[in-house]
Amino acid sequence: MQPTLVSKPDSVVINNERFRPYLTRDAIAARIKDVAAEIDRDLDGKVPILVGVLNGAFIFLADLMRALSIECEVDFLKLSSYGAAKISSGRVHELKSLDADIEGRHVILVEDIVDTGLSMEFLQKKMQEFKPASLRTAVLLHKKEATRIPLELDYVCFEIDNLFVVGYGLDFAQVGRQLADIYILEG
Ligand code: 5GP
Repeated sequence: MQPTLVSKPDSVVINNERFRPYLTRDAIAARIKDVAAEIDRDLDGKVPILVGVLNGAFIFLADLMRALSIECEVDFLKLSSYGAAKISSGRVHELKSLDADIEGRHVILVEDIVDTGLSMEFLQKKMQEFKPASLRTAVLLHKKEATRIPLELDYVCFEIDNLFVVGYGLDFAQVGRQLADIYILEG
C-alpha cells in the first residue's frame, strides 16, 4: 500500500489535496480543559456515561475523559460515514449500536464535528428512545454556517469555517486521523 499522507512543516497533503494548519494541539488541549471544567460543574455528584461516535470522536473523547475530574463511564456507537467524499451524503444510519444500558443515566454524546447536523439530529433522537435521565452533547468542532437543522449543542469546543478539516481523529478517506493538530483544506 502506497502512503497517501505527506506532512510538511506548513501543510499536509492527502490524496493530492493540500491542507493548512488550523488548530494546534495546544489550542485544542486548552479548550478541552475549559469544557471539562464546565462538565465537572454541571454534573457534579453524578456519574455520566460518555457516548463516543466512531470513528472520528475517539481521540477527542479520550482527551475529554482524561480532563474530567468527576467519575464517568464510556461506550461507543458508529454511524455511516462520508466514505471517501468531502461532503455529506445527506443520509445517516447506524453501523454499530450501544452496548451500555443508558436508561436513567446522564449521557454525554461526544461527536467530532457537526456539519449539516443530520448525524447529530439522528443521534439525539436515538438516545432519547433509551430514556436517559439527561442528554447533553459535547462537540469538538461546529461548522455553524453549514448546519441546516436547529440543534441544541451543550459543549462546543470550536466554531469553525465551512471547509473540510482533518486530523485529531478526523479523516479524509481514512487518512489523517493520527495528525495531532487539525488542518483545513486550502480553499
Ligand atoms: P453531518 O451529519 O453533521 O453533516 O456530519 C457529521 C459527520 O460528517 C461527522 O461526524 C464527520 O464524520 C463527518 N464530517 C463532517 N465534516 C467533516 C470535515 O470537515 N472533515 C471530516 N474529516 N469529516 C467531516
